[in-house]
Amino acid sequence: MNYNISVRCDTCESQTNCRLGMSDRRVQPIRFRCMSCGAPIDITMTPDFENIGIDIQTSGATRIEAGKFERGVNFVDLHLDFPVSFGEYVMGLTPFMSSLMRIGHNAMQKHAMRVNYLNDVYDHAQEIKELFTLYSNKKQAIFKEKVLNFLGSNMACDTQLDQNRALYFAIEKAFLPFSEPKRNVDAVELFNRELMDLECSNKDALVAFIDEVVSNGFLENVQADCLEIYPRIIDIELMLRPALFLDFDHSYNGYQVPYRVSAHEFLDAKDLYKDIAEIVSRALILVAGINNLKKRRSHDVFLKSPGVPQHLNAFANFPLGRKLNFIDDSWYTFEGNILDNQLRNSVAHYKAEYNKVTQEIVYYPKREGMKQEQSEHMFFLDFSRRILLAFRELHRLNHLAKCLFVYYYLRIEGEEGTPSDI
Ligand SMILES: [Zn+2]
Repeated sequence: MNYNISVRCDTCESQTNCRLGMSDRRVQPIRFRCMSCGAPIDITMTPDFENIGIDIQTSGATRIEAGKFERGVNFVDLHLDFPVSFGEYVMGLTPFMSSLMRIGHNAMQKHAMRVNYLNDVYDHAQEIKELFTLYSNKKQAIFKEKVLNFLGSNMACDTQLDQNRALYFAIEKAFLPFSEPKRNVDAVELFNRELMDLECSNKDALVAFIDEVVSNGFLENVQADCLEIYPRIIDIELMLRPALFLDFDHSYNGYQVPYRVSAHEFLDAKDLYKDIAEIVSRALILVAGINNLKKRRSHDVFLKSPGVPQHLNAFANFPLGRKLNFIDDSWYTFEGNILDNQLRNSVAHYKAEYNKVTQEIVYYPKREGMKQEQSEHMFFLDFSRRILLAFRELHRLNHLAKCLFVYYYLRIEGEEGTPSDI
């Protein structure tokens, strides 16, 4: 279902014709910029309970009579669930139809299932966010009540190990549309297999490694940092819908064709990207420790080379780019360009500019002197895709932290577990 409306910008009085594609979300806030003056225009669509009528509110612009959409008048296609092109109005070529043509029926159904699931996540957003707060603040009794209610389960939830397991079940349930479920299982299998191999071949060294990262609080901090990201992902689920679509769009070649994201803007997400990249960079310490254990039987021993850190603690202080140099032939592969130091640095250090009308990001990886030269470009859609991929990487590494904790509780502390723990 699509609605054609026209609005007049409150700032410059220019007219914009809008084709609004309907999602199934209970409330559909859309944001774009006036092409003539750059002022923000917000449109909120609220379908009525039987989904036959719709309430459309505008802010930043005033609704006017919509005639035939003429060429030469500002035009925007808008849809929360898909990337939409910036081109001229073509009757019938709606965002839904163009998307269908790009990925086909089967993939379209899968995408629809995920965004429908996100509609449920949106409805339960407060409940899900509360779980993280309660867990982090160690409010064990209320956490137990709320998490079991959310999971619809009566699983054991009293010990630290039980609560940890319940939390990760809740994460899997709440973040299903964002993750690649098969990949997470693969990652957990890999982590557990590596730990079991190390236990067989060199248990004392493995225990020394885990003891160190538990006793100095590092593992708990990494896990706590990861857990802080999840509620922030819920806050930008609208931005990530078009990025999720790209999982199915094999014709998409990043950075080539501009597509519009119909909600949120660069500024809403750049800190999140920077923070995820930072946490992933810290979690590299765990990857490096295990790499050293596998290759040299001690987490502290790096491959001999110039400037090599003397132990894992020294490695922790290295910047990201240098860290990577000292993980030789890594057992773990990072995905999604998350270790793209140039984008991360540019975003972190205000060396990125954003054109709100075209949604183009220009960033300067190498600032030399006063003049910013050597720019790189990407569209906001690409950036939101980077956030999605970075989040998936963080999610996998969060599972690594979890597996190390489970190993610690079960094999070092000797807690009783249930069969699903390991
Ligand atoms: Zn305007």
